Amino acid sequence: MTAPQLPGTPVIEGDHLISTNPATGEEAGRVPLSTVVDVERTVERARTAGQWWAGLGFDGRRDRLLRWRRLLAQRMEQLAELVHAEGGKPVPDALVEIVTSVEHVDWAARNARRVLGHRRVRSRLILAEFSAHLEYQPYGVVGVIGPWNYPVFTPIGSAAYALAAGNAVVFKPSEYTPVVGQWLVDTFAEVVPEQPVFSTVHGLAEVGAALCRAGVDKLAFTGSTATAKKVMAACAESLTPVLIEAGGKDAMIVDVDADLDAAAEACVWGAMTNAGQTCIGIERVYVVEPAFDAFVDRVVERAGRLTVGPQDADVGPITMPSQLDVIRRHIADALERGGRAVLGGPDAVRPPYAHPTVLVDVPEDAAAVREETFGPTLTINRVGTADEALALANALPYGLGGSVFGRRRAVAIARRLRSGMASINSTLTFAGMSTLPFGGVGESGFGRIHGEDGLREFGRAKAVTRRRARSALPSTTFERTPADIARLVKAVKMLYGRKL
Ligand code: NAD
Repeated sequence: MTAPQLPGTPVIEGDHLISTNPATGEEAGRVPLSTVVDVERTVERARTAGQWWAGLGFDGRRDRLLRWRRLLAQRMEQLAELVHAEGGKPVPDALVEIVTSVEHVDWAARNARRVLGHRRVRSRLILAEFSAHLEYQPYGVVGVIGPWNYPVFTPIGSAAYALAAGNAVVFKPSEYTPVVGQWLVDTFAEVVPEQPVFSTVHGLAEVGAALCRAGVDKLAFTGSTATAKKVMAACAESLTPVLIEAGGKDAMIVDVDADLDAAAEACVWGAMTNAGQTCIGIERVYVVEPAFDAFVDRVVERAGRLTVGPQDADVGPITMPSQLDVIRRHIADALERGGRAVLGGPDAVRPPYAHPTVLVDVPEDAAAVREETFGPTLTINRVGTADEALALANALPYGLGGSVFGRRRAVAIARRLRSGMASINSTLTFAGMSTLPFGGVGESGFGRIHGEDGLREFGRAKAVTRRRARSALPSTTFERTPADIARLVKAVKMLYGRKL
């Protein structure tokens, strides 16, 4: 047996992976470790299951997914306790995560037919003798690799949409939260007992790598940017398409006409919910100058009130023990470079906790501004104008979400943020809006989960044309005459060659 170095570190004992609580070290549960052969067999079984699942059609799948949604909703408290036991997340945060996930299962189930189902699309004049048909057919088997920070929301964001689209899913949960992953798959099997339509494989990095190479038809990855590059390289070997939901360093911009109380409240939640371990968490704030001091005072007052601890606290433990070093390094580096801690500071990291820390006037080249911290920390810097705020917010290779507080210019600023998502006068809210796509740009990834784009991500567009009349201007045949081509050229000049 390998003893855990710190509570929360996954333990491998024989052929089992043991998950432990990051605050107490208590075992949260154990799952069987998968070998490379297990991964291949699971994908093979999923292929057969996927054919059966696809054969149920949209209505059959909708009914099953809605029954799963019902189980999730009925057992929310049980699942939240498990999320808390395994990852240390405060139960209210876990409940909010589960509520959001239930909403996505519902939307994906109800909308898959409308978005993906067979439909006629308009013909154009030049091919008016053909009708046009479009549908999105399932890929077959989708591999889903997940992180630990939102162990319900992130897999469901891919899996529920992939399942609704008619795919089987093989899910490799993070080694830090395998028990929650297994719980999701087990409850799904209660409503779909016939075939392993949704199954798990468990283990460390090599099991994820094996899933990339096991013949899945698409791979949906959520995790760090560094791992995303390895996943993409592995999938490139077989030209397996990938969806990448990677890291972020989201900024919030506070304009001069913002409601500062509302901005501070949302900022503290956006930065410190789940102890700051949120891909779309607010990690840096740019405040247009006249509002700076008043905003910082409000943030410090609110963040200073947060409780930290294992139970019934606002901020729980850091789930992945190694992250504590990153948080410590970012704080130290910011202070060394001339930043100031107006809350927390060098002593904020007390394993397994990181206490709320607010850093101001941190140089833009500091790690705390440029790299993902993934802790309850925040940098707040002053800027002269909203344009300057935008330039700094957009200066990093990441581009996941973002937030804008203000009135007159807020929409324009949000549109100019180089990110896949933004929320105005709130933080993180786009994640729960199942009608909106979720995903990033640049080093935050590509492709989308959630919403119509999220459904289409898991279907191959199939385009069909059908002849409905003889061609008036035959061109795609060797039977055509020079006169046919001359008439075609004349028609196109009339249609498209005229002055606008
Ligand atoms: P990670 O990259 O360390 O691990 C993610 C998953 O990949 C785990 O299941 C891990 O076992 C697996 N893995 C590791 N090496 C692999 C390899 N070589 N091949 C295949 N799989 C491999 O990330 P993490 O620490 O679990 O999660 C935190 C990161 O996830 C943060 O960067 C966060 O921003 C990001 N995240 C992004 C989103 C999003 O939607 N964009 C959501 C949540 C988290």
